This record gives sequence, structure tokens and C-alpha cells, in this order.
Amino acid sequence: TTAPVTKLRLAIQKSGRLHDDSMRLLKECGIDISNGVNKLKSEASNFPLEVFFLRDDDIPQYVEDKVADIGFVGENVVYEKKKKVEVVEKLGFGKCRLSIAVPKGEDYASAASLQGKRIATSYPVLVQDFLNQQGVQAEIHEISGSVEIAPGIGLASAICDLVSSGSTLFMNGLQEVETILQSQAVLITSAGLSEEQQAILNKLMFRIQAVKKAKNTKYVLLNAPNDKLDEIIGLLPGMKSPTVLPLAEKGWSSVHSVLSESQFWDIIEKLKAAGAQGILVVPIEKMIL
Ligand code: ATP
Ligand code: MG
Repeated sequence: TTAPVTKLRLAIQKSGRLHDDSMRLLKECGIDISNGVNKLKSEASNFPLEVFFLRDDDIPQYVEDKVADIGFVGENVVYEKKKKVEVVEKLGFGKCRLSIAVPKGEDYASAASLQGKRIATSYPVLVQDFLNQQGVQAEIHEISGSVEIAPGIGLASAICDLVSSGSTLFMNGLQEVETILQSQAVLITSAGLSEEQQAILNKLMFRIQAVKKAKNTKYVLLNAPNDKLDEIIGLLPGMKSPTVLPLAEKGWSSVHSVLSESQFWDIIEKLKAAGAQGILVVPIEKMIL
């Protein structure tokens, strides 16, 4: 008989806002998972990974209990549940904020305005932490969903809920007054993985980081007159120095480089001003540094 193959067990959300992005990330990492409807778990065909599909609220507990070795879950859930898990990587999706909102038009100067009020939320632990930090006493009323309707039906005079665009708050006549947490999906793990499991996790993290870096980076190709090359090269940060190739047309070169999304527009404008032409910007799929 052969020894059982070590696998890493990953918990992701079964359905909801994090599900599709979690599956997409695995796919971009080259990991194939058949995702049958109503399946509880699934095995990757080309990577030592088993995926469990769970309610997002349960993921930190499963990881703490070592039923799963790692999980993809929102920071909001991780910090609310206060389980013994470690955040090892931000995943760049599921971005939202946990905010306090009050009815529109209501005066709100600072957290002190919440003194003595009743706040409806699904995040009692994080709200209490915030109130303690601010030295404010308020009553927390825990509800599991539809928090935004609480002020309208007289259940509470403020709420604390997840916000991304703010349109839900707006539609319910509420104004956002305080952000208590910025959140995104993260990779969590329990302490004490075996050496083999840690090796698989390292392999997975290497791939996740390559995908994340690529998302924030563009490949730029442009044509430059040779007498402007020095100036144009000076504008490009690149990974090392840019690639410079002669064009068929005399006196011109093609310059290739890599730009981060955040510096992108700024640099493109300067490149144009310096005489660059035919600028092409293409996405990068993976980036290994
Ligand atoms: P489950 O059935 O798994 O318990 P859920 O209804 O609790 O699902 P979702 O609404 O699918 O959870 O949200 C999952 C996570 O997506 C949130 O915990 C949060 O980290 C993230 N998220 C991103 N943007 C938002 C948003 N605008 N509102 C709510 N959650 C958001
Ligand atoms: Mg949930």
C-alpha cells in the first residue's frame, strides 16, 4: 500500500459575494476544481488541494478546529469571530468597509453622538471594540440581516453594517458617519500545519502573489525617436531596465516596460509629452519576480 497523499484543505464561501472571486483566484493559480451544485467539497485535479464550501461565518471556526487547514474569508468575519487563526495574505477582492450610519439629516459630530443610543448590527464584537476605544456607552442590538431597515422600523437609532457603494444606505435614508474597519478577503490559516502542508501552502501563496502582482501591473510598449530615448527611459521604472529594440524605421526604437496601475496614468502622460508614440498597454497574467 502507498502512504496517503497529503492535501491542504481550503474552506471557501459556498455561495455569496466571495464565492465567485474565490473560485476565480484558484483558477488563475492554475488549480482546476469541479464545482458541482450543492457539493460540500471538491478536489483539485492538478494540485494537492481539497476545497470545502461553507457559510462564510463558519470558516474561522473550521480553520481553528483544523477541520480545514486554510480559508478564504472577509477580514470583517475574521476579526468579529476572534478565533485562533492567522491572516497570512490579503487577496485583493471582497473589498468593503464596516461603517456606522444614522438617519439622513441627523446631527453627528463624533462617536460621542452615539452615547446612550441603540445600534443595530451583525458585528457586535467589532462595534463594542469601537465603542470602547472611543469611550462611548451605547446599546448594541444584534440582528443577523437587513440591518439597514432597523432605524426605519424604530428598532435602533443607528446601525453598523458592511458598505461598498453606499447605495443600500442611501435607499434606506441613512448617512454613513464613521468607518470602523476596512475589509477585504484574506487567506487565514491555523497554527501548526505539518511540514508537508506548509510546503503546499507556500506553493499556493507563491501563485497567489504572482496573480496579485500581475493584476496591479501593466505591460507597456511604445515607439520612441532615438534622440528622446534617454528621457523616455528615465520615466520608466520597470522591473529592471526597459527593453529597447530598433524599429524597421530608421531613428526609432520600440521600448517595452512594466508599470504599476497606480503610477500608470501619470507616467503615460509624461511619456506622450516626451515624444512617445503608438503606446500600447496590455494586461499581464502572471508575474514572478
Ligand atoms: P453566507 O451565506 O456565506 O453566510 P453572507 O450572506 O453572510 O453569506 P455575503 O453577503 O455573501 O455573506 O458577504 C460575504 C462577504 O463579502 C462579507 O463578509 C464581506 O467580507 C464581503 N463583502 C464585500 N462587499 C460587501 C458588501 N457590500 N456587503 C456585504 N458584504 C460584502
Ligand atoms: Mg455569513
